[in-house]
Amino acid sequence: MIVCHDIHKHFGGFRAIDGVSLKIPEGAITGLLGPNGAGKSTLFNVIAGVHKPTSGKVTLAGEDITGLPPHALFARGVLRTFQIAHEFSSMSVLENLMMVPGGQSGETLWNTWFHRSRIAREEEELRARAEDVLDFLTLTHVRDERAGNLSGGQKKLVELGRTMMVDARVVFLDEVGAGVNRTLLATIGDAIVRLNRERGYTFCVIEHDMDFIARLCDSVIVMAEGRVLAEGAPADIMQNEQVIEAYLGT
Ligand code: ADP
Ligand code: MG
Repeated sequence: MIVCHDIHKHFGGFRAIDGVSLKIPEGAITGLLGPNGAGKSTLFNVIAGVHKPTSGKVTLAGEDITGLPPHALFARGVLRTFQIAHEFSSMSVLENLMMVPGGQSGETLWNTWFHRSRIAREEEELRARAEDVLDFLTLTHVRDERAGNLSGGQKKLVELGRTMMVDARVVFLDEVGAGVNRTLLATIGDAIVRLNRERGYTFCVIEHDMDFIARLCDSVIVMAEGRVLAEGAPADIMQNEQVIEAYLGT
């Protein structure tokens, strides 16, 4: 579904990504592993339109999407989760889900007033969808809680929930399990698997927890020093000597 063709991303003279070619297959959950500084987040940012690559091409189902801004990718169903921003932390969980970006941002005040009834109806639909998402993610009990008061894991679920407010096709999750307790990590894992099986989401996840990766991922790509080091099934990757060396730093 997503194909990276020989991506390079340099920061000054530093090669954060140094010639990465890879495929993220449709309908699968692909893991992206690698030691800190390997270039994983930078690669996500290049694919998701946050950074333009120095060179190379990204395609989505054959269409060149290189360097498209995040809102253009969003319209194509390519989403990267972001942490709940400071300004949203005082809003409720439900309100956070209802803040779908790109909605009526282009509307003038006059249009907004003129289309008030339409907007009221849209808001009703948005609310119903948000309630469904809360139910799916087992978050209904915290729907009116301020987002800032949630635990780390619950915040991650809300971030995942935001991707469900639109018709996402490919979702990129950067260290979804960082600082999350094991119970919630399992809930997040279940949500990912269900979104994949029941709603056809394609996922690419950066995660350090090997059990999580092994349980979730169909295949794994390992990066080190801005390059792809190995690819394969989780069980094979964990036996791979190059991978073990990269992690041990020897
Ligand atoms: P990972 O997510 O695998 O830990 P990153 O993609 O965050 O790695 O970073 C890869 C390398 O690129 C690191 O050495 C980091 O310091 C560097 N880097 C990332 N973003 C920037 C930036 N905006 N400016 C300069 N260097 C950066
Ligand atoms: Mg990172």
